Amino acid sequence: MNLLSARHWVFDMDGTLTIAVHDFAAIKRALGIPQDHDILHHLAALPEAEAQAKHAWLLEHERELAIASVAAPGAVELVRALHARGIRLGILTRNAHELALLTLAAIGLGDCFASADVIGRDEAIPKPDPDGLLQLAARWGVAPGELVMVGDYRFDLDCARAAGAFSVLVNLAENPWPELTDLHAGDCAALLAHLA
Ligand SMILES: [Mg+2]
Repeated sequence: MNLLSARHWVFDMDGTLTIAVHDFAAIKRALGIPQDHDILHHLAALPEAEAQAKHAWLLEHERELAIASVAAPGAVELVRALHARGIRLGILTRNAHELALLTLAAIGLGDCFASADVIGRDEAIPKPDPDGLLQLAARWGVAPGELVMVGDYRFDLDCARAAGAFSVLVNLAENPWPELTDLHAGDCAALLAHLA
């Protein structure tokens, strides 16, 4: 696929459009989750009452982070440029939908994404599963191979690969996952320069 002609872009949020602030090790300690476990998978396997209580704690913790979100370098300029070109924009995040909307508003991008195109952990099987990308492709009436997926972690690249989407890695100086990456850009500013 030609990145320059792509008309459907999906972004991870935390650490991609924002400066990463989630301290996952601290979250796991607070919730009694072993460091080598996936937070969402771990919570999903707990008895319902315990899972609900821990999800509530997680939501409250993440709400505070969302309100204080800071945009990653070039993220606002990149999204604004794509939006100005009439490109369809979505978010695929392991954060919660309402917190994703709060975060996007906090960094000044609230008007660039339709609420229905912001897919959180309750709207799709979380990444690395491609479910969210497949949902967006279906909603937009395009083949998953038409999508660009931009993220800062291997789950983003994995889900792009699984869906057949074009994978872009940002915000890492070195690329630990070259076999999963179609394009590596230092940050969103470099990615925008690539589109010029
Ligand atoms: Mg991320």
